[in-house]
Order: sequence, then C-alpha cells, then structure tokens
Amino acid sequence: MSSTSENTFQAIVSHAKEYGFVFPSSEIYDGLSAVYDYGPYGSELKKNIRDHWWKSMTQLHENIVGIDAAIFMHPTTWKASGHVDNFSDPLIDNKDSKKRYRVDHLIEAHAEKLALAGDKEGEFDLLKNMDELLKADDFVGLKQLIEDNKIVCSVSGTGNWTEIRQFNLMFATEFGAIASDNPEDNKVYLRPETAQGIFVNFLNVQKTARMKIPFGIAQTGKAFRNEIVARQFIFRMREFEQMEMQFFVRPGTQGHWYQYWKEARLKWHTDLGISAAKYRYHDHVKLAHYAKEACDIEFEFPFGFKEVEGIHSRSDFDLTQHQLYSKKKIQYYDNDIDETTGKAFGNYVPYVVETSIGLDRMFLLVLSHAYEEETIQKEDGTSDSRVVLHIPPVIAPNKLAILPLTKKDGLPEIARELMDECKPYFKCFYEEKDAIGKRYRRQDAIGTPFCVTIDHQTKEDQTITIRYRDSMLQERISLSMVKSLVLAAIQ
Ligand code: ATP
Repeated sequence: MSSTSENTFQAIVSHAKEYGFVFPSSEIYDGLSAVYDYGPYGSELKKNIRDHWWKSMTQLHENIVGIDAAIFMHPTTWKASGHVDNFSDPLIDNKDSKKRYRVDHLIEAHAEKLALAGDKEGEFDLLKNMDELLKADDFVGLKQLIEDNKIVCSVSGTGNWTEIRQFNLMFATEFGAIASDNPEDNKVYLRPETAQGIFVNFLNVQKTARMKIPFGIAQTGKAFRNEIVARQFIFRMREFEQMEMQFFVRPGTQGHWYQYWKEARLKWHTDLGISAAKYRYHDHVKLAHYAKEACDIEFEFPFGFKEVEGIHSRSDFDLTQHQLYSKKKIQYYDNDIDETTGKAFGNYVPYVVETSIGLDRMFLLVLSHAYEEETIQKEDGTSDSRVVLHIPPVIAPNKLAILPLTKKDGLPEIARELMDECKPYFKCFYEEKDAIGKRYRRQDAIGTPFCVTIDHQTKEDQTITIRYRDSMLQERISLSMVKSLVLAAIQ
C-alpha cells in the first residue's frame, strides 16, 4: 500500500470510530482481534445496506424468497458440506518473530512489492506459480517458492520458516450440558457460511412457498471464521455477516445463470452510483471444494483491488452431499416438458449458482468510496476544508437533518412539525445547537444527504433552505416539498 493510500485508510478507520460507525469490540479490555461493534450511525448504515440487498433480492425478484436459519446446525451438516475436511487455509510461521502468515497472503504481498518496483513479469510469474501449487495442494512446492523468492518476514526480516500446515477455520463449541467421555459427541460449530442453512431447508422452502425452478433462497446472518491473519479493519473479521442467495436451476442451465448473476450482481453495485471503474471480476484458479466455476467481484479499496463478493457455480454438490449424509431424498420434480424428449424433465437434484457478499466488507466498501477530505475554495480567496461521506442516499444513516436557525421565535416549532411529518418515512435528525456551518459539517461527516434550515423567512413565506451534501449548493424551496424531495432521492 502506498503511503497516501495507507494514510487514507487510517483516516477512514479513525473517522469510523470518531463518528460512531465502528468500534473495536470490548474496547475497554483492549479489544478482541478482528471483532468489531457497530455504533449508532454504523448500525444504521449496516442495516440500510442489508435492507437494500434484501429488497433487491426478495422484493424485486418474484422467484426469490428469504429464510432466517439458526447459526447452530447439526454437526453432520459440516461433514456433508466438506467444511470439516476441507475448510482450511495453508499457514506458515516465522520461527524468529513467531508471526503467522497465510501462505497465499505472504506470497501475494511479495508479488505486490515486485510490481511496485516495476517488475511486472516477476509478479505475474510468481502469482501464476503460486496459483498452480495451491491448486495442487503442493505445500513442499509452495515452501520452495517462498525460499526461491527469498521472501522474508516483515517483522524479523528473516526467511526462517516452519513447514506449511493446513488450519481449519471453523470455530467449535460444546452443545448442551450432557457430559460425555468423548468431547467430540457434544461438538457443534459456529457456521462458517450461511449457505448451508439454505441447503438443508431446500425442500421445506420449495414445498411451503410452492417455488418452481429456477428460484432462489436468500438469507442474511452471522458467520464465523477463525481467520489465520485478521487484518485491514472490518475487511477480514472472525465474526461477520453474510448476505447470500442460492439460486436453484435445472442441470445444464447453470452456465447461463452463472453469467446472469455475475452481471446482475455487478449492476447492483454500480446502481448504487459507485463507478464501474472501481470494480473488476477475478476468475478463480483455485476453486473451493464445492465450486465448478467461480469468480470474485473485486473493489479497489485503499489497499488495492480485493474481493467483496463471490459468484459460485456450486453444481449439485451440496444437495447431493446432504442427501447422502441424511439418507433423505432431496429432489425436485420438474413437470416442464423437455423439447428433445417430449417428456417432463422429471426428478433431479437441482444445480446451484450462489451469490455471496460480506455485509461488513460492503460497509467498508461504502466508507472507502464515500470518504473525502475536501478543500473548499471560498470567494474571498481563502480556503476551508471538510470531511464528507458521499454515502448513496438510499443507504445513508440519516436522510435529512432539520436545523432551526435559532432556538427561539417559533422556529423550533416549525422544525418539529417537519420532523413529525417526515420521520415515519425516513430517518431524520433534529438539532438546534451551534452555528449552522458547524452543524452542516457534522452532517457531512456522517453522510446526511440533505439538510434543511428553518429561518425567519420560513415564517413569512413557508420556504426553507435546503442544502445538498455533495455540491454544498443551497436553494430555497417550499417547506411542503421537503418530504417528497427526500423520498424521491431514496427510492
Ligand atoms: P477471502 O478469500 O477474502 O477469505 P472467501 O473467498 O473465503 O474470502 P467466501 O467464502 O466466498 O469468501 O465468502 C463470501 C463473502 O463473505 C466474501 O466475498 C466476503 O465479502 C465475505 N467474507 C468472507 N470471509 C470474511 C471475513 N473473514 N470477514 C469479513 N467478510 C468475509
């Protein structure tokens, strides 16, 4: 990361804390690594992103329904899904500093250094070799690659590495109070992804909501991963929230739906007003144990292009596995006519295309996109500055700030009437204290798209001053138009 990007990123982290978006978890006890709490504006923003996603999935797609499955699931779920055996990352320790690295991250960081030094070819070769070795689970080869490239630990500066080991990322805990000689008997996992709650409920949902293929099941909720190296603020957390949708399709049509969802999901991002130039697709070389085809939607964070969402063609892997382990038939009867045979498609295990986005990562994306330290040139030749969050209005924590110019002369009463008119429809904020300029700056810093000021003229002609966050332009409009203007902007 360049020093400017590093500074911007640190500024965003500090801003998030100072303005009540994100706090380190249990901070009075010095925090808990890679666990965070969301404050008043943060919880509002997070909820708005979740609602926006939920609406786009379940309200705007007639063939997608939602569920809310429990975090604890029968332990066999994770055997069947492959997580007990395969959900692990290769790690390596530096013997001198005792610092632990995820092998791919260590090599990627070195590749980035090569690129910064202008050695694009070296970067390309290194990443290509790494991808091939990871794909083959060749840990000896990976260690050799680290040694051949003289990759050293950033703390000790040495290349004194341990062997590479696999590390399972699932958290386990004990379930119930029944003592058992074998601790494995009571072991349950905190779900590492929300998807399995959807798969095990496939028939329940399909039957009760009378869904016809192709259809989707959406879910948002907490997931837990004991990440080897947790870093970059809320980018990689040990407790986080996912927004996932599993789309069930007829075998043979998965290629079409994979393309469809790849495009539809990127469009969801750019429809928020975030520039397409900040995004790119990254096709996976090393596929997860369940995936047949997979890509990431990457966003240019201050620390470079990184995954925010995954689109995975999961074949019939999960449903077939659950069928096998539960010994219960999980099939769909398709009575549409297959034109080639002239008969109904009949019974089959559907194929699945998944879209999976991290809510916290999306939150960081929104903050990274929104954050600006702006210099304002004034008419008298002097300059001023402000920190502004250009959060898309539809997900902004507060939509409207209502600010009476003074605390007297009946202005608060008019402002309160406007509050009462608007607050059933969207989140409003009321404030009388401090000079108006100061109040505007505070709203800029939390990303409120609209501020209205009630002044003495309001009493005369029922007009107010509306100030737009991004342009800082101010205009007088009728008091009666405020609600509809804000509503139009947040649809
Ligand atoms: P990564 O390669 O970054 O570890 P992944 O490919 O393992 O991510 P998926 O299993 O595809 O991630 O999970 C889907 C989404 O969940 C990711 O795109 C990301 O937005 C989010 N996510 C995954 N792990 C974390 C985490 N530890 N903290 C925050 N969000 C996460």
